[in-house]
Amino acid sequence: MPEYSTLKPKILLHACCGTCAVYPYFLLEKDFDVTLFYYNPNLYPEKEYVNRLEGIKTISEKYSIPLLKGKYENKKWLSLTADFKNEPEGGRRCSLCFEMRLRETARTAKKLDFDFFGTTLTISPHKNHEIINSTGIRLASSKGINFYEANLKKMDGFKKTMELSKKLNLYRQNYCGCIYSMK
Ligand code: SF4
Repeated sequence: MPEYSTLKPKILLHACCGTCAVYPYFLLEKDFDVTLFYYNPNLYPEKEYVNRLEGIKTISEKYSIPLLKGKYENKKWLSLTADFKNEPEGGRRCSLCFEMRLRETARTAKKLDFDFFGTTLTISPHKNHEIINSTGIRLASSKGINFYEANLKKMDGFKKTMELSKKLNLYRQNYCGCIYSMK
């Protein structure tokens, strides 16, 4: 009899907050061994960074999901995006913002021997899943790791995650996250 592994592949799943992470976690945990990754240097002010971190900690503790945290590198993010501060949401600043967060997720996943990396960013109706996925695929190929390609807003993903967030009383923001999106 051939032997089959019952182990699920390990995925490092980048998330920007507990609200955006909760439904994707339930979707992925059927097929993957999920670890959440909080790396969001775009967030401003620091209180916002802390509020969203608290939300993700809540689901990590409630559902026993491992959680890793990157550094809060807001100065680095500001310098990366400075030339595009006046761009509208969805413009080039956002592409750089996605790339910085995905690059660090891919780097950490590779370093820690995960099979895949991915992100919950595509759950937002305001974010372009094609740009996010093409960035993830490019980084995966350069780092030698798999990227979980998805459009999580499909099949009412955003509505479902908001409903779960409300039930769990998680922190919910009213702007994308950076200083420019506050305006
Ligand atoms: S609007 Fe959102 S995605 Fe775009 S740069 Fe700001 S935080 Fe990043």
